[in-house]
Amino acid sequence: MTIKVTEEAKEFRKRVLETPGAENIMHCYQCGTCTADCPIAKRVKEFRPRQIARLVMYGQKERLMEGDLLYLCAGCYTCYEHCPQEVHVSEIVSALRKMSLNEGHLLPGFKALMEGVAEMGYIYEIDEFANEMREDDDLPPAPKPDTDGIEAVMRATGFLGKVEASTR
Ligand code: SF4
Ligand code: SF4
Repeated sequence: MTIKVTEEAKEFRKRVLETPGAENIMHCYQCGTCTADCPIAKRVKEFRPRQIARLVMYGQKERLMEGDLLYLCAGCYTCYEHCPQEVHVSEIVSALRKMSLNEGHLLPGFKALMEGVAEMGYIYEIDEFANEMREDDDLPPAPKPDTDGIEAVMRATGFLGKVEASTR
């Protein structure tokens, strides 16, 4: 398949390059160290940090934003530490996630998680059963979160509004 780097693609690449931590993307020489060492790539064959770097170099925004690719990264920073060119795929993924939030392309599952945090203070409900399990492990009940405060902070920063507005 021939990839044509359009002006739009260049503009997208420029925006990623301007993100602190993601400035070195054009230094990637596709050695594959990041993919070889990435714990997620070891388990998910579709997830290839090297390919993420390449797609950004070619400005392939749609391919990066579709699916759940960006949300598979665990943010472990192995690629950051091991890349011989200091490309920092982890920072590139962060930049792309931020872009997906700002442009309303948030992954629906991630959107539901964030709305859950605003509502419950946790990413999932801590019910009686969960607390009984904690008790079995000699743990105290999970602390009751200040959900009003959490929602207020999420709203004041503008994050929650963007999450709610995402319509992918
Ligand atoms: S990002 Fe770094 S480790 Fe990964 S392929 Fe490019 S140069 Fe190699
Ligand atoms: S930060 Fe993400 S892409 Fe990099 S090694 Fe960890 S899981 Fe893989």
